[in-house]
Amino acid sequence: MQTDRVFFLGTGDAYSAGGRYQSAYLLESCGAFLLLDCGPGTLGSLKRHELSASPIDTILLSHFHGDHFAGLPFLFLEYVYVNPRTKPLRIIGPPGVEDRVMQIFRAMYADSGAAPLPYELQFIEAQPGTQLAFDNVKIEPFRVPHQEHPPSYGYAIRSEDRKIVYSGDTGWTDDLLMHTEDTDLFICECSFFETRLATHLDYPRIAENLERFGTKRIVLTHLGQEVLSRRQEIDLEIAYDGLIATL
Ligand SMILES: [Zn+2]
Ligand SMILES: [Zn+2]
Repeated sequence: MQTDRVFFLGTGDAYSAGGRYQSAYLLESCGAFLLLDCGPGTLGSLKRHELSASPIDTILLSHFHGDHFAGLPFLFLEYVYVNPRTKPLRIIGPPGVEDRVMQIFRAMYADSGAAPLPYELQFIEAQPGTQLAFDNVKIEPFRVPHQEHPPSYGYAIRSEDRKIVYSGDTGWTDDLLMHTEDTDLFICECSFFETRLATHLDYPRIAENLERFGTKRIVLTHLGQEVLSRRQEIDLEIAYDGLIATL
């Protein structure tokens, strides 16, 4: 049985609380490399942690807030000028993924964004309730309460007999209990401590529901300043840039 590894590249919130990079996680599973979200500092974090961007063939986007996908243009140019690639790059996300990604690419690099890339970008609109399968990895998106139009997703990712769930950005919903049932790892956003919103999670909310999660390991991420300031009151595992979770 092969080992799965998750490299936590960016564990900060949209404001890079504590100097942390914004959202990005690299999953190595059965020889495949998947990137979960691609915040603006993703390429910098890969290089800081001496990880290559070259093996990444699939990128999952949870939603279209900049802290989750504004790193893509830098990755696109890396694959042209620094570590050229010819193999396709697959980008999976909510409906409208191609438009949103190409808009941000053209806004940031009008010249490169207007020219054809030397590799193919394959965009896939994921639909909740359906499963995508690539490289021995099965991917299931599910709706989470965050952005409504277009919808925000969390993802369940299965390989061999392991299951990982990434919450993306989400408010509380009991659906999280169902989706994280029998997971080996739940990468769970935790933006706040004392602030309670319908569109993000806070630590007390996670703690009060902890017994109801059927996961072997929960790691808190997308950490805001409130959480970092009160981290000594937190009993759960807190992610940091550079954390490697081995499954
Ligand atoms: Zn976010
Ligand atoms: Zn967001």
